[in-house]
Amino acid sequence: KIREKLCKFQVGDEIRILDTYQMIAKDEMLYTSTVNTIKQEKINPEWALDKALVKANTAFMDNASDFFQERRADVQHVGNLILKNLLGGEEEEHPRHFKKNTLLVVHDLSPADTAQIIKGTVAGFVTEVGGKTSHTAIFAKALEIPAVVGAVGITQSVEEDDILLLDGTEGTVIINPSRADKLHYQDLRKKYEQMDNLLLKEAHLPAVTKDDFTLRLAANMELPEEIPTIKKYGAEGIGLYRTEVLYLRQKRLPTEEEQFQNYKKVLRQMAPHPVTIRTLDIGGDKILEDSEHSEYVESLNPALGFRAIRFCLREKGLFKAQLRAMLRASRYGKLKILIPMISNLDEIRQVKKIITDVKSELDEKKIPYDHNVKLGVMIEVPSAAIMSDAIAGEVDFLSIGTNDLIQYSIAIDRVNEHVAYLYEPLHPAILRLLNQITEAGRQKNIEVSVCGEMAGEPLYLLILLGLGLTELSMNPLSIPRVKKILRQVTFKQGAELVEKALACKTSSDVEHLVRKEMSKIALPED
Ligand code: PEP
Ligand code: MG
Repeated sequence: KIREKLCKFQVGDEIRILDTYQMIAKDEMLYTSTVNTIKQEKINPEWALDKALVKANTAFMDNASDFFQERRADVQHVGNLILKNLLGGEEEEHPRHFKKNTLLVVHDLSPADTAQIIKGTVAGFVTEVGGKTSHTAIFAKALEIPAVVGAVGITQSVEEDDILLLDGTEGTVIINPSRADKLHYQDLRKKYEQMDNLLLKEAHLPAVTKDDFTLRLAANMELPEEIPTIKKYGAEGIGLYRTEVLYLRQKRLPTEEEQFQNYKKVLRQMAPHPVTIRTLDIGGDKILEDSEHSEYVESLNPALGFRAIRFCLREKGLFKAQLRAMLRASRYGKLKILIPMISNLDEIRQVKKIITDVKSELDEKKIPYDHNVKLGVMIEVPSAAIMSDAIAGEVDFLSIGTNDLIQYSIAIDRVNEHVAYLYEPLHPAILRLLNQITEAGRQKNIEVSVCGEMAGEPLYLLILLGLGLTELSMNPLSIPRVKKILRQVTFKQGAELVEKALACKTSSDVEHLVRKEMSKIALPED
């Protein structure tokens, strides 16, 4: 049934996975074993299936090979689906049908739920929970779904079939708007679209300042279906591919082969531009409730818990499978590997050792790959930012994740709407950290980029430029806006602003300076 429904939505590659699931469901390991247990032990089917799953799990566990570890996850997933059906549960794996132009108003929507929304099925959503750098908000942007998050109490104020006006740019929701409101927003929408079209005409001009400083403007990507948009908006590569979204969408870890095919497609389509693929960053707010690995990620403070590289260094089989998939795909374009949530040098050294092992295995099997693939790490944990001079000596590039760096430095949970007001990219402490990281990159002569949401905000461009970053990676739709400003300013202007900003003691002092300087520039919204 799931397969038939998905076919209607033309989701492509996902269908093949369901074919594999069907085969697993009929395999003797699950099917025959369950039926035999019912016959022999006279127990109910749910229990018998559960026994078959435990047996299969143990058998796979005994074999450490990555291939068997991947099959283990598939078998468990299929088994759990059948179990849910036997227990009379609802199947969940199909897109919900909504009336045209439906807006969802919900208490919360997890990043996993958001990643599964298929474009066109809802017109937008409003949540009570969340901040603008939460992954729910980031994924909504990537899927081009208008959204407002952190609208405290909204589910109490909205009734089914109310008319809502939603402005994702300003974060406004109007319930049962007046005629004047409707006309005003229709007009705003028209102006926004006109501005978008104008900006698009200049999207492919070089990203260079008036004094000839080049800043690479790259795209953040969550799913390969974004590539046409990424190209249309003039990205010079992918600065961050969040590979965990594939996992969240499929509700299971993709196999090595699926990852290889996926990366190969992306690298090919983006060549000759670089594609920075980040290894799995699951944990934090990015978990599946029924995740096979949920014992690792369920904790009171998930953001400080078993996330990203911490998870990968424990689940080495999974990590190696992903690295192998990346390296195998590397010959189809220009791959850069990025490691998230690094908090010390030891983790980097462990990663490098694992990559060397994976490369040796490929060499042994005579599997070709690009021997010059660059390795970089995310600087998003304060300890890594403070140690960035040492870290810069170990890797080929640094990528600053401002979403997490701000979360961890200012101690504000990204998904907590009550502290969202403290999210201040211009906080002097953040500026000092950014300055320290870019300086470390300069000393070791390696590239430093920013790939957090801060990179796509036009207001911060002059500061980021002045800090001497080499790349900004952002939601593709922001690229033309940022480029328009970049082409009107000078590096010198940015550097002078940074010098003054670094002497400030409060965020509002910095913001005042920045706004004053930016007011001299014709912003795309003007
Ligand atoms: C960041 O932390 O800024 C980042 C880019 O990574 P993510 O948003 O996926 O945590
Ligand atoms: Mg991060």
